[in-house]
Amino acid sequence: MSLLSVSGLQAAYGAAPALFGIDLSIAPGEVVTLLGRNGMGKTTTVRTIMGLVAATSGQVMFRGKDVTNAPPYKIARLGIGLVPEGRQIFPTLSVEENLIATATARPSGSGTRWTVEQVYRFFPRLAERKKNLGAQLSGGEQQMLAIGRALMTNPHLLILDEATEGLAPLVRAEIWERLLELKKDGQAILVIDKNIDAMLKLADRHVMLASGQVVWSGTSAELTADPTVIDRYLHL
Ligand code: ATP
Repeated sequence: MSLLSVSGLQAAYGAAPALFGIDLSIAPGEVVTLLGRNGMGKTTTVRTIMGLVAATSGQVMFRGKDVTNAPPYKIARLGIGLVPEGRQIFPTLSVEENLIATATARPSGSGTRWTVEQVYRFFPRLAERKKNLGAQLSGGEQQMLAIGRALMTNPHLLILDEATEGLAPLVRAEIWERLLELKKDGQAILVIDKNIDAMLKLADRHVMLASGQVVWSGTSAELTADPTVIDRYLHL
């Protein structure tokens, strides 16, 4: 059974439609990317799944429940951990307080129960910075904290909107490595990231969006075998 199943999802900003019937599904333990150029609807898809943008049509099923247009906190509690675009960590809380703020006793899909100490082992840089305020962190440290904060909710599905945008190459590589570790532990992930080579290595399947529609989907092997898909939908 699918962990997440999105069917015919439509959404609009005021009178302007942004999604025209998105279909996508994620199985437990699977890593899926949302690909596409800027403005094609990736963030809107994620925000509509989370209940942050209203669906005007279609359905979002998560863990067997219809969560279409449910309040975001309920969707989060059911087990979706979002790392939002721009990270949105709490700037006036310390690293440690940011992590404690989202802690939950409910186990994740893979049975993991994240603790602050585990997050520090996962991202040692955060341990070094634990007393620093969110606002004092570098972009890379903020992204590690945003991921750590999402993990503290023990998510069944982790969603990253722009996993490594604007980060230095070494930090990007570290984040991709950590995501691969999470995948090996059975964590299901939906990830948006423009670095196609890294995504081909990390993900099982890819969903390509153009103008608010799914224009292609397939496995890493299928995407590698057909470079015209990347040329057509990702390159300028
Ligand atoms: P990016 O990588 O630039 O974030 P994206 O693929 O995530 O791109 P979206 O941000 O989902 O794309 O945008 C999809 C469409 O919705 C675009 O036409 C965009 O201009 C429009 N849009 C996005 N956010 C808003 C908003 N808050 N109000 C009005 N229109 C919006």
